[in-house]
Amino acid sequence: MSRVVKVEPIPVSYPEPNDFNALRHLCLVKVTTDDGIVGWGESITQFPEASLATKAIVDGMAERVVGKDPLDTDAIWRSLHDQAWWYGYNGGIASYAISAIDIALWDVKGKVLGVPVLQLLGGAVHEKLPAIASCHAHHEEIGRMVEEAQEWVAPGLHGVKVGFGKRGNARLGYEHDRDVEYVRRMRQGLPDAWLMVDCGWAIKWDVATALRRVKAFEEYDLTWIEEPLGAWDPSGYADLRRQSTTLIAYGEKEWNLDGYERILQTGTVDVVGVDPGRAEGITGFKKVAERVEYYRRQANAHAWSSAIATAASLAISFSSPACKLFELKPLRNPMQHELVTEPFGHVNGFMYPPAKPGLGIEVIEKVVDSFRSERVLAKV
Ligand SMILES: [Mg+2]
Repeated sequence: MSRVVKVEPIPVSYPEPNDFNALRHLCLVKVTTDDGIVGWGESITQFPEASLATKAIVDGMAERVVGKDPLDTDAIWRSLHDQAWWYGYNGGIASYAISAIDIALWDVKGKVLGVPVLQLLGGAVHEKLPAIASCHAHHEEIGRMVEEAQEWVAPGLHGVKVGFGKRGNARLGYEHDRDVEYVRRMRQGLPDAWLMVDCGWAIKWDVATALRRVKAFEEYDLTWIEEPLGAWDPSGYADLRRQSTTLIAYGEKEWNLDGYERILQTGTVDVVGVDPGRAEGITGFKKVAERVEYYRRQANAHAWSSAIATAASLAISFSSPACKLFELKPLRNPMQHELVTEPFGHVNGFMYPPAKPGLGIEVIEKVVDSFRSERVLAKV
């Protein structure tokens, strides 16, 4: 039997080319067993202070993991939950810590048993999943934004999800007429692609504004509109859903099953975003995916950080009938393409079930070391 001997939180900071090279922050976790097996987990902390806080909590929680059998993922997950009764009851930084530890333990478990995490979750229910590009527009002129999206989709991707209210000169999400013109020309330039609009934190539409936009977009057949009223607005979302035919996506800011159950019960969410690096790991995501399936809604992995989160998201997405597609960042980036020996990519627009033991990735420690936050932030 294997025993966990070490749980090491590693905050990393890296420039994200898909976000104007903004410095983004993650807290990775490396779990090592007495027989030398190493597993990797990730929390998508985004901000340096959140990464450092997560590191402190992982260090504190480590005593509930060291000495344990890594096959006991569920028992350890419950024990970590129990530890966070005071500072993580409704989610928050504690959920990041639980997420990263849990993902690393599933990786170890798969490697100990010599099977992919997907198989530990019960196996694939999809033969393949269509992939889309998920990105932020980088240009001011609408024609250039359409061309950029066409370039992303050209290798065979099934569609594109574009962030509104992001950095740069795109100015999407702020002017009704310009937004409608943008969506019109995107549809014209990508007649057969799925198109999704994802409203970022900077977009503060009220219900009437959201309704006017979404009604105007209807003609161009969006696959879904994401977070048009933010993370939580049950009455606003009820209005929007009653009055428009467009599917509504939200949920990515939830921390745990309680939060997801709350939004599912409103009956206003069609596509439920879940990040395994935030919503309590593979164990947490799996529980949420089952509830989403029960409610007959769609679950969607919010996997927009490292290859570790992508690997965890792929395993769950393939194991759940509620998941229908998979998002990829279109531009090469260090945490996807440098971090692991074999970066993720689609094959003619599709993702296939991961087949290697654990998460199926080989993390390059030299790369992890080069992005350690203490090193990167010292240079800023
Ligand atoms: Mg989103």
